[in-house]
Amino acid sequence: RSRSVTTRAANQERSYVMVKPDGVQRGLVGKIISRFERKGFYLKGLKMFNCPEDIAKEHYKDLSSKPFFPDLVEYICSGPVICMIWEGKGVVKSARKLIGATNPLESEPGTIRGDFAVEVGRNVIHGSDSDENGEREIGIWFSSGEGTAEWTPHMEPWLREIG
Ligand code: GDP
Ligand code: MG
Repeated sequence: RSRSVTTRAANQERSYVMVKPDGVQRGLVGKIISRFERKGFYLKGLKMFNCPEDIAKEHYKDLSSKPFFPDLVEYICSGPVICMIWEGKGVVKSARKLIGATNPLESEPGTIRGDFAVEVGRNVIHGSDSDENGEREIGIWFSSGEGTAEWTPHMEPWLREIG
C-alpha cells in the first residue's frame, strides 16, 4: 500500500503550491503547471477545489491580525483553486523564486507574478515559504489524500547528479 499523503519520501522536499481563483479564471493553470514541470519538479498532488472559509483561515492563520485578512479569505474562497504538491530537491525555495515577490509590481519579470499580475490582492499563485509550512499546508489541503498518487519519476537520473 502507498504511504500516507502527509508523509514525504525520504530525502524529498515538498511544497504546497496553489493557483488562486484569479489564476483559474484567467486561464493560467496550464502555463503555471508547465513552469514547474520544465524546471524539473514532480507533481505529486493535484485537485480543483472550492475552498471553504475555515480552510482559508487555517492556511493563512499567521496573517489573521492583518487588516487585509478578511479580504484575503474572501479572495481565496471566491472561486475554485488548483491545489498542488510539487516535490524535488530544493523545491520550497525554488518555487518561491519561480513565483516571485508577494507584491507583483516588485516581482521580477520572468517570475509568475512578475509576468502575470499587478496587484498584491490578485497575485495568482501561492507557494509555501518553508519546509515546515509546506508539510503543514499539504496536511490542510490534502487531508483526505484525494488528488494524490504515488509514482516514481523515472527522469530522476537525468535531473539529479546524486539520487
Ligand atoms: P506570499 O507568501 O508571497 O503569498 O505572501 P504573504 O504570506 O505575506 O501573504 C499571503 C497573501 O496575502 C499574499 O499572497 C497576498 O495575496 C495577500 N496579501 C499580502 N499582503 C497583502 C496586502 O498588503 N494587501 C492585500 N490586499 N493582500 C495582501
Ligand atoms: Mg506566505
